Amino acid sequence: MRRLLAAGAGLGFAESLLGPGVSRALADPQSLRPRTPFVVMVVLDAFRADYADLAPMPHLDWLASRGVRYPNAWVGQLESYTPAGHATLTTGASPARTGVIGFQWRDPKTGAEDLTAWWNGVMSGRLEATLRAHGVDSIPQAVKRLDPSARVVSLSSEKYYAADAMGGPAADFIMFGRPMGAKIITQGIPHHQPPASFLKAPRLTWPWPLTFGQFDEMAMTMAIEALHLLDPRVLLINLPGADIYGHRIGGPDAPKVMANIVQHADQQIGRLVSHLQRRGILDQTIIVVTADHGMVQNTYQLDDAVIKTAVKKAGGDLFFHVGGSSAYIWLRNPHDSAAVAANILSVLPTLPTNGTTPSDAITFAHYRHLVAGHYRYDPVVAPGTSLSPDLEAAYQYLFGTFNNLSAPDIVLSYPENMISRAAADRHGEHGGATWGAQHVPLVISGPGVRRNFTSPFPARLMDVAPTVFALLGLNPHRMDGLVLADALQHPHPAQLALQDVHAPLLIAHQKAVIAQATLDLAAQAAAGAA
Ligand SMILES: [Zn+2]
Repeated sequence: MRRLLAAGAGLGFAESLLGPGVSRALADPQSLRPRTPFVVMVVLDAFRADYADLAPMPHLDWLASRGVRYPNAWVGQLESYTPAGHATLTTGASPARTGVIGFQWRDPKTGAEDLTAWWNGVMSGRLEATLRAHGVDSIPQAVKRLDPSARVVSLSSEKYYAADAMGGPAADFIMFGRPMGAKIITQGIPHHQPPASFLKAPRLTWPWPLTFGQFDEMAMTMAIEALHLLDPRVLLINLPGADIYGHRIGGPDAPKVMANIVQHADQQIGRLVSHLQRRGILDQTIIVVTADHGMVQNTYQLDDAVIKTAVKKAGGDLFFHVGGSSAYIWLRNPHDSAAVAANILSVLPTLPTNGTTPSDAITFAHYRHLVAGHYRYDPVVAPGTSLSPDLEAAYQYLFGTFNNLSAPDIVLSYPENMISRAAADRHGEHGGATWGAQHVPLVISGPGVRRNFTSPFPARLMDVAPTVFALLGLNPHRMDGLVLADALQHPHPAQLALQDVHAPLLIAHQKAVIAQATLDLAAQAAAGAA
């Protein structure tokens, strides 16, 4: 059999001679696998879609030329944080249904602050337990159902919570770089440990601190080692460079630094492609390149201390809050959420903020309350301002993606390019609903994907997994996203119809978010802030 193959006989010939089962059993497992495609997902952490304009991205462009690009892709959900985005990318479920709405939330059973997506929660298995308890399906689970011997690897050089949220309970190996003294050492998440011999490879330990493109280079080195030594059917890769530098230097506010990061990220995509080719599986691999969220700069910034004071003065008993490019506030007196939200808008202009932030920058908030047995968010608007019905509809849609029993009692929505700041070294942020935090790249290529097509559809993170399922010949179920049927070479008419049905409303929501960003930026420019 091997001689037949070596002599140049095609697999088809070998299979017709021996039958597919026999030839598979006899031959090199790599070359004679069932024809299910491989899946590789590259998540560029906090990579705003317009970063792609800062430097040439020939490798991403090459993937797009043999696949489909979505220039209007957006997060399409809240909170726009890393754990939530990565969980959604592989499950196709909204944060409300994965249970991972951000880094932390209220535990609905105990009422306690639940820090599940931070270190202790990840290392103790709570993040995965959350996904399991919420009953979501995922790309890793589905591939292992198809082929129990298939291996799933998920990794990041630094963001353990990204690797864990993306891989979930079904992943075999989940790994990340852990800074220890003057080194950053690749290690596994408990219960997902790669073999010790794998972790010992010198290429998987780097000098710490890493700088610039090294964050992404280390992650891709881990991925390439995994590709060759762990034989993954599904390989999930978080490249954290754009997030780390975006926070440090303000993202779009420092285009020269970000251009360097962008260039390095694209080089990593190139390395990946060449190693898939070297391994002989490039044409059998579905490759998704996207981001978990964007990043906004600190044209305006509001210290966390100001938010805390405002909540207190507004009659709120602050439990905890999360600041980013909007503020998510949990109260100990949630029944007062309506009054507290309205009062915050009145109180904020009376507090000193800082030199660059006008005291009336925040013009609306939403409070969560029970209506006929269901929690819903309703708006309050600062005196003398208004909230357009289109934008309110967009926010209602976005709140719906994370409004579960753990969700915050009040959401303060910031204008574009305004951030909360808890630490002096934070200059860029995300987390909110504005366009800078929402607009992401998305390129899908591989077997079954249309070639060289650009789609105007406002694809969301939650649409990625259903689309990968369709490409694997599976029916997505228990998912909130839809199949991006326009990406498929052979879509089912029902899939196309479903995408068409959803398009007008999603486009309207996205347009409202973009329109508000345009207004915000014009106002900031007029005020001399930008
Ligand atoms: Zn971040």
